[in-house]
Amino acid sequence: MEKEVLIPDADPMGAAIYDYYVNGNADTLIVHSSMFEDDEIPVESLFRSLEEMPELERIALHEAQGRILDVGAGSGCHSIALNVLGKPSVAIDISPLSVEVMKLRGLDARQINLYDESFTEKFDTVLMLMNGTGIIGTLDNMPAFFGRMKQLLAQGGCILIDSSDLRYLYEEEDGSLMIDLADDYYGLLDYQMEYKDILGEPFDWLYVDFDTLAFYAEENGFNAELIAEGAHYDYLAKLTIS
Ligand code: SAH
Repeated sequence: MEKEVLIPDADPMGAAIYDYYVNGNADTLIVHSSMFEDDEIPVESLFRSLEEMPELERIALHEAQGRILDVGAGSGCHSIALNVLGKPSVAIDISPLSVEVMKLRGLDARQINLYDESFTEKFDTVLMLMNGTGIIGTLDNMPAFFGRMKQLLAQGGCILIDSSDLRYLYEEEDGSLMIDLADDYYGLLDYQMEYKDILGEPFDWLYVDFDTLAFYAEENGFNAELIAEGAHYDYLAKLTIS
């Protein structure tokens, strides 16, 4: 598993976050994928407040307790909201410009890759939100992900992670699924971000349905509990060491 961090010249999302924080607006943040037409991430949505967050995220923030690690924290919106709730956190991200913004926002933010084992602190809650399973990358990486979580979790700790079941993209009108079983798992996407003249490296991004996540959790010594379901095939799960 890649343990590197990004450099500012190849950090499109961080550049968008930085622009928005400093200027109050940003250009278009484009997401390319070989599976879809180009899409756009509204940069202001990365700065959502507690009230603006989807319910699954708010539930996660209320569930979070003890020492909290905000993984892939972006602009730091969840850590800011946690502060509002009186719960301090440590925020990590591979994006140098995002980390710079989070520091400007007064957060304890560090430029660290989740998979970098030289980061040895332990946490009661590991938060991974806005399709947090994305950072797992591929199903093949599940053992490495759960192994890393065993290192990061304090006794009795938990991971709060959200995702969506992308089956709806393949659903026919009669409810049957048009999925070729010989293909890769349907939630495995490749993404590449672009902002102004900055094109990031392509990366794997995993959406995973709850049953598949629970299967891999069990294989790797974890329990998966379904905490809540959203309106659009999305859910929040709590993973604990079994
Ligand atoms: N959680 C934020 C941002 C989500 S975007 C929000 O909800 O708004 C995903 C973030 O994860 C990006 O900022 C990206 O830089 C970061 N990221 C991706 N891979 C990572 C890794 N291996 N370790 C730490 N951060 C990572």
